[in-house]
Amino acid sequence: MTAFSDLPIRDDLRGLTPYGAPQVHVPIQLNVNENTHGIPEDVARDVVESVAAAVLGMNRYPDREFTELRESLAGYLAADVAPERTGSTQTITAEQVWAANGSNEILQQILQAFGGPGRSVLGFPPTYSMHSIIAAGTGTRWIAGERGDDYALTPGIVTDWIERTEPDLVFLCAPNNPTGTPLGLDVIEAAYAASRGMVVVDEAYAEFMPDDAPRATTLLPGRERLIVSRTMSKAFAFAGARLGYLAADPAVADALRLVRLPYHLSALTQAAAVAALRHAPEMLAMVDDIRSQRDRMLRELPALGYSAHDSWANFVLFGGVRDPRAVFEALLGEGIIIRDIGIPNHLRVTAGTEAETSAFLDALAALGASQSEPVDRILG
Ligand SMILES: *Cc1c(COP(=O)(O)O)cnc(C)c1O
Repeated sequence: MTAFSDLPIRDDLRGLTPYGAPQVHVPIQLNVNENTHGIPEDVARDVVESVAAAVLGMNRYPDREFTELRESLAGYLAADVAPERTGSTQTITAEQVWAANGSNEILQQILQAFGGPGRSVLGFPPTYSMHSIIAAGTGTRWIAGERGDDYALTPGIVTDWIERTEPDLVFLCAPNNPTGTPLGLDVIEAAYAASRGMVVVDEAYAEFMPDDAPRATTLLPGRERLIVSRTMSKAFAFAGARLGYLAADPAVADALRLVRLPYHLSALTQAAAVAALRHAPEMLAMVDDIRSQRDRMLRELPALGYSAHDSWANFVLFGGVRDPRAVFEALLGEGIIIRDIGIPNHLRVTAGTEAETSAFLDALAALGASQSEPVDRILG
């Protein structure tokens, strides 16, 4: 059998491992932070009708500028910067918006345009594993910074790392995956001030933040090197459709036009996303419920003897797990998949529906206290 390393592959890809969240089809899937709630039927019908209409025009290439979609996304983002939230008259226009097949492709295009061989990107592990994988794929050197207590970042930490390493890009994840850690706007402002390169804020979980927490989009005016990346995969229950987007200075979109493949967003994707965005309030109706299940896990995991890290996302990282692999396998045996993200004595679980979350907590309780151990013994 041929191994990929036997092929004349790029030297810098030798020895790397691909993104590998297991895709196991068990009844309760709480491993990749998907929205566990289905798409409401009337929305599904509208999506299908819009896609059906697009099929009739499929002999033609799609709108390369996905203008209608960018207008819809700008309209959706307007809520972030609404005067009643920000007290300002800031707007987000379609020219400031760019979209791609998932925010992973957004990040790839950003690194293709602003990173690449001879350039570097600074990130702060433990963070979204795709950040370093996309860096590798684009030949961008990954610089692993370090976080402070309980995975938090401060203006001082990011400024120090940026001044010491002078990266061409900084990736910040707000809130951070896999830890759930909130990120203050003061940290983003500090990173921007310290850096001469692009500052990318991955806000994949923005909708799960507290309603009154300001979004990174409010920092865009006057910061032409700031990019806020978003996705419809999580809050919008659209992971299977693949639609990510960004908001930034219009010049960023001009730069990405140099590296994107022409017609990268299919007519079907554009039609489906525009249709779903017409129903944004309904699509997001489940966010409150998901947040309450997250908060329930934050309360109940400690009662089972585990430590839970504060989370502003739709998942919880919990510690105090003596043998993560054993707990993962035991839950899998009960038809529940969660995530072992490789942090010693920790596991990550996505907030499910009320029933799914109950099943997870009950199964964990049934494993007994033998699977958890006092936090001080782990830290000690
Ligand atoms: C899930 C996730 C994404 C989503 O990627 P898509 O390609 O849009 O599905 C992006 N960033 C982070 C931090 C995530 O956790």
